[in-house]
Amino acid sequence: MADFRSDTFTKPTPGMLDAMMHARVGDDVFGEDPTVNELEAMMADIFGKEAALYCASGTMSNQVAIKVHTQPGDEVICSDLAHVFVYEGGGIAYNAGCQARTLTGDRGMITAAQVAAAINPNDVHRARTSLVCLENSSNRGGGACYNFEDILSIREVCQQHNLALHLDGARLFNALVATGETPEQYGQAFDTISICLNKGLGCPMGSVLVGSKAFIKEARRVRKKLGGGLRQAGFMAAAGIYALEHHIQRLGEDHRHAKMITDALITRSFIGHILPVETNIIIFDVLEPWTPVSFSEHLAKEGIRVAAISPTQVRMVTHLDVTPDMVQHTCSVISHMHHHA
Ligand SMILES: *Cc1c(COP(=O)(O)O)cnc(C)c1O
Repeated sequence: MADFRSDTFTKPTPGMLDAMMHARVGDDVFGEDPTVNELEAMMADIFGKEAALYCASGTMSNQVAIKVHTQPGDEVICSDLAHVFVYEGGGIAYNAGCQARTLTGDRGMITAAQVAAAINPNDVHRARTSLVCLENSSNRGGGACYNFEDILSIREVCQQHNLALHLDGARLFNALVATGETPEQYGQAFDTISICLNKGLGCPMGSVLVGSKAFIKEARRVRKKLGGGLRQAGFMAAAGIYALEHHIQRLGEDHRHAKMITDALITRSFIGHILPVETNIIIFDVLEPWTPVSFSEHLAKEGIRVAAISPTQVRMVTHLDVTPDMVQHTCSVISHMHHHA
């Protein structure tokens, strides 16, 4: 089975499992798990930040960050496609007591001018704008990557208006590998960044939040309140260390695989608009006589799983467990599909 539904379907490699089995562990709520401490120190160092916090999921690290950056009643600016707004169960309201001010950008990417225009004046009638959340790469934007200059312009607006800037970097390493930018650049541009280990990096779970020492101290308190204080989490953190050491550069292979599948899709008359493929996500329209559902059912019979994500769109995501053979098979199946369903 070639599973393109998401890069969350990866299973630990033998090397990763071995690292997990041999992890040194302790009680992380007491700060005594050496492997969690090592992962946090590594991630902080990679991004040039003072501190880091290992969280159970990307949703948890985003939600912890939003809670620490804001006060109840504040407004959080983000794209209308942002994971923090669309896919975190209303967490901005539930956990932080804040409301979202959503902006319609280009494939989930917003601009400095849009942000500047959305900041509320200092007026008792208005919610206090306190935080801007960006997402890179943009999941619902088909893995699109920000132009770094545009991020710096948003940073400038945030500084002028005393707003915090958080990055949902669930797939930031995909963006870094695709653009050649460095983690340090991102560490300097953002107050906080959450980075998923459970997506393209291939870990069973986990995400890391990086920021200042004072911020992470408070974040640790909020993580505990959310039930995210884990004990011998080092078994899982060991997978994260292994992934940072072995699974970053290979993301380029996932991106090449996504381009190969795109090349097969583009020739077919029943495939409509394909969002520009910059990393490991392909989102495309399926046209009559096929539908996203019949298209995915046809591929499933050939051992290929894809996700029908809207009445018109299918999403495919390449990852660690997608082999060159699976990509070739998938391209061949797409090439041989009939014009009629
Ligand atoms: C997957 C994802 C997250 C976090 O998801 P979890 O399943 O909670 O780890 C956050 N942001 C984006 C953009 C994602 O794709």
